[in-house]
Amino acid sequence: MNVVVIGAGVVGLGAAWRCAARGADVTLVDPEPASGATGVAAGMLTPVSELDYGEEPLLRLGVASRNLYPEFVAELEELTGLDTGHRRDGLLEVAFDADDLRVLADVKRFQEALGVPTEALDRRECRKLEPMLAPTVRGGLYAPEDGSIDPRRLAPALLAAAEKCGARLVRQKAAEVLVRGDAVSGVRLDDGTELPADRVLLAAGPWSNAVGGIPPGVVPDVRPVKGQVLRLRTPVPFLRRTTRGTVRGSSIYLVPRADGEIVVGATQEELGFDTRVTAGGLWELLRDARELVPGITELDFAEVSAGLRPGSPDNAPVLGPSALPGLVLGVGHHRNGILLTPVSAAALAEALLDGTLPEVARPFSPGRFRQGS
Ligand SMILES: Cc1cc2nc3c(=O)[nH]c(=O)nc-3n(C[C@H](O)[C@H](O)[C@H](O)COP(=O)(O)OP(=O)(O)OC[C@H]3O[C@@H](n4cnc5c(N)ncnc54)[C@H](O)[C@@H]3O)c2cc1C
Repeated sequence: MNVVVIGAGVVGLGAAWRCAARGADVTLVDPEPASGATGVAAGMLTPVSELDYGEEPLLRLGVASRNLYPEFVAELEELTGLDTGHRRDGLLEVAFDADDLRVLADVKRFQEALGVPTEALDRRECRKLEPMLAPTVRGGLYAPEDGSIDPRRLAPALLAAAEKCGARLVRQKAAEVLVRGDAVSGVRLDDGTELPADRVLLAAGPWSNAVGGIPPGVVPDVRPVKGQVLRLRTPVPFLRRTTRGTVRGSSIYLVPRADGEIVVGATQEELGFDTRVTAGGLWELLRDARELVPGITELDFAEVSAGLRPGSPDNAPVLGPSALPGLVLGVGHHRNGILLTPVSAAALAEALLDGTLPEVARPFSPGRFRQGS
């Protein structure tokens, strides 16, 4: 089986590795691997938050993926010898007022219905877990099985794993998908080179609709949702785990890494393909993060960046065979692409090599956008 993967963000990389490991002949096409949202993302592995509870099939997919992570990472790190920065040290989500506390109580009930263990904590218990938290914190929710990963380490590890299993990377842009008869036959690159393929995976993030040759309506609209994040550094231990809260109605999080980096995120802006870093975005992040953890103003500034989350019309991922035979879609992972990497990689490899989807991924099939379905 000859597979061409368009896009080497986490979605394309994960699927390429899993297909190559099963013996497929895989070519990854990307002018700059991991240069999209993957290279900017914070890397929280936290399937349930106050923002998105209610989208049950997506939460089930997220929980399934988070549960796959330890084994997925162990396999990846053993194969490549590379560290991915994976941590399973829990998520602490805190509340500042009675309204926030009520929301967290709802989140807790919802998590329990999904079989996800959580613990409700009072102010003292929250500050015992994270002594740097603001004294104004009223209480919180601790999800011990959540965690984080460093996407800037995960992506090179996935590429190395795919290459170890025989995949090759072509550093070029895919210009169009080639169609012979009614099925996909390959991919034409920007320089005119044609790569033959039995199957093509489209995983080009928010740029997926710009790839030519695909009949209209086959790929649902994928829009860019801008997110700005800030990276700080600390030479001394500061936060022990991912910590999140709602400040003035907007969500703010801090994700610590073992090397002293702390990622503070993220804005959510519908501004098309704009990746400018703005003073306002930066100010909002610092203002809200300081309310959560006042001591952050003492940390070293490292970087500020902006990325584009790929959002589908219903904000859920689009996974599986499309209406064009041979073309499989791996798009629309929006705010959850890092979390969903293990489950999407497995689902897309199955879709590419067997033409089926595992049960947990079926609600995300492209067919849901077809008229009448
Ligand atoms: C600020 C921010 C914070 C985030 N935090 C989290 C988080 O904590 N947890 C989480 O789970 N998710 C998070 N996300 C979301 C996550 O980053 C995305 O869902 C995920 O990276 C999407 O991966 P992807 O492979 O679909 O797209 P991308 O990472 O955007 O990759 C697409 C790739 O396609 C390539 N490409 C484009 N056009 C072509 C072409 N014509 N030919 C070949 N290649 C092409 C690009 O070069 C790029 O490398 C965050 C995102 C942002 C922006």
